[in-house]
Amino acid sequence: METDRYGIIGFGCAGYHAAKTIRRFRPRAQIDIFESGRGLLNPMLTTYFVEGKLDQPQMYPFGDPDSVCGELSLNLVRAKVEQLRPERMEITAGGMNQRYTSILIASGASAAVPPFAKTASKPVFFMRTEQDAQLLKEYLQRHSVRRAVVIGASMVGIKVTEALFLAQVETVLLDGAPQIFPLAAFPSMAGKIEEVLQKHGIELRCGVRVLGIGAGGVELADQADVPCDIVCLCVGTRANLDFLPADGAMAPETRRGVVVNTRMETSCSGVFAAGDCCEGGNLQTGGTAPIGLWANAAAQGICAGSNMVGMSREYYGTIPHNTARFLGTTFAGAGDPSYEGERFMLSTREMDLELVLDGGQLICFNLLGNSRISGVLKSILLKRILSPDGEISDCQQAILKQAGLTKDLINKIGGDKNGICI
Ligand SMILES: Cc1cc2nc3c(=O)[nH]c(=O)nc-3n(C[C@H](O)[C@H](O)[C@H](O)COP(=O)(O)OP(=O)(O)OC[C@H]3O[C@@H](n4cnc5c(N)ncnc54)[C@H](O)[C@@H]3O)c2cc1C
Repeated sequence: METDRYGIIGFGCAGYHAAKTIRRFRPRAQIDIFESGRGLLNPMLTTYFVEGKLDQPQMYPFGDPDSVCGELSLNLVRAKVEQLRPERMEITAGGMNQRYTSILIASGASAAVPPFAKTASKPVFFMRTEQDAQLLKEYLQRHSVRRAVVIGASMVGIKVTEALFLAQVETVLLDGAPQIFPLAAFPSMAGKIEEVLQKHGIELRCGVRVLGIGAGGVELADQADVPCDIVCLCVGTRANLDFLPADGAMAPETRRGVVVNTRMETSCSGVFAAGDCCEGGNLQTGGTAPIGLWANAAAQGICAGSNMVGMSREYYGTIPHNTARFLGTTFAGAGDPSYEGERFMLSTREMDLELVLDGGQLICFNLLGNSRISGVLKSILLKRILSPDGEISDCQQAILKQAGLTKDLINKIGGDKNGICI
């Protein structure tokens, strides 16, 4: 008879993978999943719903949450967790307290809300939840929106900009950073992305400071207001951790997310964390960082679930990387663009590619167009971090060669040192 009881806070990608893993190893254990929303949303599909490319159920790739819980015998508690007391291994939700053998924090993140959003004189939208997507979609359908401002030239910001473009809304994209995708793109590549935006009639203004959203539009420091009917805010995320003890000594160590080790354990024994609410391994820096990516959340959830049932599993993390398809092109970037090293650029009819190598090792790349090779480049970058002398496979070399990379460049990033590259 299994008496273990597992508590999972949040039924997103990380919570789902953890629950499935626990169920695999503990067929009869009680697994309670607390969820404040509907659960099982894939947030990256929300803009496709706004564009009308996906129906509402298609934003839920694992299926309907109640059906999934039925199939996996999970107890879905539809309540917001109000409090977690790690020292008692206790969760409070809906006015009820329950103690657990092991607890997973998988509460994800919410769209950041800057203070000026609260006093806005124009309708303001975000993009993270199904409700966010529904609100924007319905507003666009019911009102004659002619002009919009998107604040935040981030991966989310560009997807929202595309949704507005497809809805024939004239859009201005603003950011405080000096360029688009400041954390992912080299300045030269940012310039090429800006050209793509210009070709579609989208204005990009970087290096601006937003003061507020008034009746005349978005108010900027030292510049005229940007007139608009609506504003979409895509200025980052904040980990959902309101339920942690206010007394830091009783709470798991938290920076921009709950800090975890390679077993997804927090600093509080028996309490694990996974997904966008945590800071896990960044393979490139060797430290921890919040890396808000779907596959990372899944891998962390599986690792946490395994260790929660006493299996020994480690997940060393990933690197910051992004692939964004927008306005008929694809941008893919991996690694930190501020890294210095030997730089290579290649432009073909199909793509612009920029690579940085350090000591013969690929440490960062930007690719605009030809998304077919982004996976190969990312996998080479990761493989060479884990095993610096490892060569890249014949198949990968062939794909890169076909895309237009020279034999010399392929060899530089780890191709066949004997020059037998296909
Ligand atoms: C527009 C957009 C585009 C994206 N594009 C990409 C992309 O191209 N590639 C990529 O890899 N990633 C992308 N992402 C990021 C990716 O969606 C996330 O990394 C991933 O969903 C994280 O999963 P999670 O389970 O950690 O968190 P979430 O999906 O946020 O799930 C957390 C769950 O916890 C629940 N919850 C929160 N607080 C509580 C509480 N107190 N009590 C109970 N339940 C609670 C929430 O309701 C939610 O269901 C994108 C995200 C957005 C918004």
